[in-house]
Amino acid sequence: MVTAESDGAMGTSRLTIRIERRGLRRYPCSGCGGRTGRVRSARDRTWDDLPWAAHPVTLVYAQRRVRCRRCGIRTERIAFADPKARVTRRLRQHIGLDCQSMPTSHAAVRHGVSWSKARRAEAAFLAAWDRSRVKHRPRHLGADEIHRGKGQQFWTVLSDLVRGEVIGLEKDRSEASLRTLLTTRLDARQRAAVEAVCADMHRPYLNVVAEVLPRAETVFDKFHVLQHASAALDDVRRQEFFRAGAVMRAHGRGKRWLLLRRWATVRGSKRRELETLFAANRRLFKAYVLREQLDRLWMYKTRGGVLDFLLGWLKALRWQRLPEMERLGEFLFRHVEGIAAHCDHPVRFGVVESINTTIKAVLRRARGMRDDQMLLLKLKWATAHPIRSARDLARFLDPEGLYSNR
Ligand SMILES: [Zn+2]
Repeated sequence: MVTAESDGAMGTSRLTIRIERRGLRRYPCSGCGGRTGRVRSARDRTWDDLPWAAHPVTLVYAQRRVRCRRCGIRTERIAFADPKARVTRRLRQHIGLDCQSMPTSHAAVRHGVSWSKARRAEAAFLAAWDRSRVKHRPRHLGADEIHRGKGQQFWTVLSDLVRGEVIGLEKDRSEASLRTLLTTRLDARQRAAVEAVCADMHRPYLNVVAEVLPRAETVFDKFHVLQHASAALDDVRRQEFFRAGAVMRAHGRGKRWLLLRRWATVRGSKRRELETLFAANRRLFKAYVLREQLDRLWMYKTRGGVLDFLLGWLKALRWQRLPEMERLGEFLFRHVEGIAAHCDHPVRFGVVESINTTIKAVLRRARGMRDDQMLLLKLKWATAHPIRSARDLARFLDPEGLYSNR
């Protein structure tokens, strides 16, 4: 039976719906689901529910405590809400979904619940979604580090580069953190499927990959390799400020970011600025061209091709008297196997970058979030894009809580 009471002024008044079950003598146990007629006590409980018209709705029901043959004294299982939850499952779905595209405080106001209720609903929503997901076997993994929190703490992120999804998050960028991720976030079957791990030339990561995934090869991330090259170019620029003081002060001041940009992305007047600078300083020009050429490392389809190109590049460097670029050349030569590994494992470097961008966006929105488990779930959701069609959305809002397999 349903009775509705409202209080307060019309328009904002809250509807209270009292649920009574008539003619029912046996109640399901929250432990095992078995029905029992042995009721010990009953107590009124309330659940926030979806609004009716503009009115927020509260459900009231006298929840029984039953003496179950198997479980002992338990509360009655409620069909429309999880045990201990204070909102109905369908409201939880709406709040949880909204929280993925707006701040929790906003979603809480929108659904007329407190902040902590909204946060709990979001956590339950994300956890239920994550539990329902199919375990894929990732062919290409990404291991990367991110900065997070005050004092720029490092974190290790493990991701599935074929699907473009975050798999796990762990404090630090040590051997231990990646080992934990690989052994706890992936089962043996999943680990066996990994063919390549894309990472920075970061020694601890390389050691762990060799140890935990002996069959997988390490592919050095293009983005990071080029970062090393840009750092070398920056060193040349700094040296030139010392060496060719007056000329550089005239043309080179404030050009750091311009120099670090790729030629293809520099347009119009900025290009002319660079050209003036290069005309004034040939060494800087040489270093810039050398960095630009490194792009070709990823154009070859065979390891031999990559090696030949790098040897040619080193040769071109020989008489330039650019010690910073020579150091870079030695560094690349030491790591050429991992750079050339992309020929056999076509890792999607673009995905590495797009995951990083998504992570930064989520971290910015979730700044100050203390709960690491929740942060990981939010990252998984943001990178998995589980809602791609009206059907996906309908599945999430289904009160039965059927989830997408994505
Ligand atoms: Zn039971």
